[in-house]
Amino acid sequence: MSLGFPSRPSAEQDGAAQLLQVVEQVWGYRELRPLQGEAMRASLEGRDALVVMATGGGKSLCYQAPALIREGLTVVISPLISLMQDQVASLVESGAPAAALSSAMSGAEKYAVHERLGARELKLLFMAPERLMVGGFAEELAAWDVRNLVIDEAHCISHWGHDFRPEYRRLGELREALPAIPIQAFTATATPQVREDIARQLGLRDPVLLIGSFDRPNLTYRFTPRRDAVGQVLEVIRRHSGEAGIVYCLRRTDVDQLAQQLASHGVRCLPYHAGLDASVRERNQAQFMSESIDVIVATVAFGMGIDRPDVRFVVHAALPKGVEQYAQETGRAGRDGLPSECVLFYSGADYHGWKQLQERSAAEARANGVELDPEQEARMLARLSEMYGWATSAICRHKFLVEHFGQPFTPPEGACSGCGACDVCLGEFASVADSQRVAQMILSCVVRCQQRFGASHVTDVLCGVAAEKVRQLGHDQLTTFGLLRQHDPRQVRHWIEQLVGLELLVTAPGRYPTLSLTQAGVDVMRGNAPITLFEIPQVPRARRTRRTPAPSDIQYDESLFEKLRQLRRKLASERALPPYMIFGDRTLQELAAVQPTSVDELREIRGVGAKKLEDLGELFLAAIREHVQR
Ligand code: ADP
Ligand code: ZN
Repeated sequence: MSLGFPSRPSAEQDGAAQLLQVVEQVWGYRELRPLQGEAMRASLEGRDALVVMATGGGKSLCYQAPALIREGLTVVISPLISLMQDQVASLVESGAPAAALSSAMSGAEKYAVHERLGARELKLLFMAPERLMVGGFAEELAAWDVRNLVIDEAHCISHWGHDFRPEYRRLGELREALPAIPIQAFTATATPQVREDIARQLGLRDPVLLIGSFDRPNLTYRFTPRRDAVGQVLEVIRRHSGEAGIVYCLRRTDVDQLAQQLASHGVRCLPYHAGLDASVRERNQAQFMSESIDVIVATVAFGMGIDRPDVRFVVHAALPKGVEQYAQETGRAGRDGLPSECVLFYSGADYHGWKQLQERSAAEARANGVELDPEQEARMLARLSEMYGWATSAICRHKFLVEHFGQPFTPPEGACSGCGACDVCLGEFASVADSQRVAQMILSCVVRCQQRFGASHVTDVLCGVAAEKVRQLGHDQLTTFGLLRQHDPRQVRHWIEQLVGLELLVTAPGRYPTLSLTQAGVDVMRGNAPITLFEIPQVPRARRTRRTPAPSDIQYDESLFEKLRQLRRKLASERALPPYMIFGDRTLQELAAVQPTSVDELREIRGVGAKKLEDLGELFLAAIREHVQR
């Protein structure tokens, strides 16, 4: 079927209308997401642009749609071959003339792409950055009538980003080789430093700067101290039975153990870490992408290049390395915009875990003759502390995250208080009735211990644990000894951490993290400032529903949805494609809600473009008709 893309936007035809038309025809979307229109306009006007959008914000559409109506070819530089192949497969499924050139292809495959390029049949070409640096390549690009360059995951160019790739460094040379061709760069990395670095290194000229909101309103965040990792992780998995999720662990051994334990409880899961054979890793990832398993248990080695959009939960079984890493890792949940959950189980012990890992990699580097920057460890610990402080605090998770990236937080429309999508705002923390008195006891105990001891010692004293060290120091004689003995020591410890999170107490850096009071701490101790402490969070029973409700959720027939998922899985496996490339979850939900029984009704569903209507329409209509007739 020919989609008949108009090759040249005629003067009379309004560019915006033409874009909407192509978006509807190819992707089946009726509306654009925030900033997509602006990004597309910049592209069609031939402007340089830097577009920063949260994961799942819809960056690909911003360059794919203009490419289809622009004259000539658009070249997209992408860091990972697997990502590239997925994008191309998805475009081809929708009937768009796209291809990739990569080292993973055979000579014959590459030749075929070159033929199509020579014949000017393609509108979009995806490539890894290495290919561009081959001598004579700039001339070749010009011969293919390249009109636009897109740099995806542009933060890879920056040392400051979390994912620096040396090959990206040389992309600036492209601007010099092809000065007339506009460049648009896309990233989800939010820091201004990275942003400036991208613009400078690519030599962007007066770029249109588009920065979206970093908030991911469809994600619900919950942070809980870790008590029984297996039990706690299982509980999350059970709330999401049959749905896809990622469980992040700190070490490879944790991954292997947890994966085994979860499997023994009947969870369809597999491990993923850098210690596994490359072929095993690939196979496990492929099983996750094809929905043969639900859960992948992994170190942070898993994730880059995972574009399965229906990941419904991300669990951290240990503290992530920092706030930015947390945002990155949880960003893999709910890319399709549907409600998804992110749960963090943390413990103070995770510090030591990360330190060990750091020491091991420093030793490995040393063995290879590389000395690591001695300040690296201090920086790592500072990032961990910030993460830990956030985890133990009772501040809205969305607000903290968005403000961390330098944006003001605006609660979603209709929310009466807070974000409506985190444990704090959902009221899952019970406040302590006599917070003021408890806080005063803790603060004064720190003072009685002469501000020379850490949280576990202070906890022992408050709980009346006459440990040897406590007795030796005579701290069992302090007036604060045993003042909180009616409380669980874990709870007392958690309150101390809350006081640190509120900056009433500070922990000294270094080997002995001793606690001392800040001025604000002194004020609270003297009763001059109010304070609220919280119980260790418990997810209330009532919330242990299968799906976390969210304002955007639609009502649909769940049994039909499951049938359509099965059909999708079958069609995907016949076509050797990941299921989400057939239709996304959102489209299946709309199908299960509207239950269209004719082609005309089906066409109206979001995500049903012209080619898919023709290829798959009858199959899905048959399944819906059968369900409706029952
Ligand atoms: P990003 O690259 O920014 O993480 P993607 O480009 O992968 O995000 O898009 C995320 C999801 O949102 C995809 O499933 C995509 O099809 C969908 N999407 C993008 N734009 C729209 C739109 N205008 N309407 C509906 N869905 C959209
Ligand atoms: Zn909140």
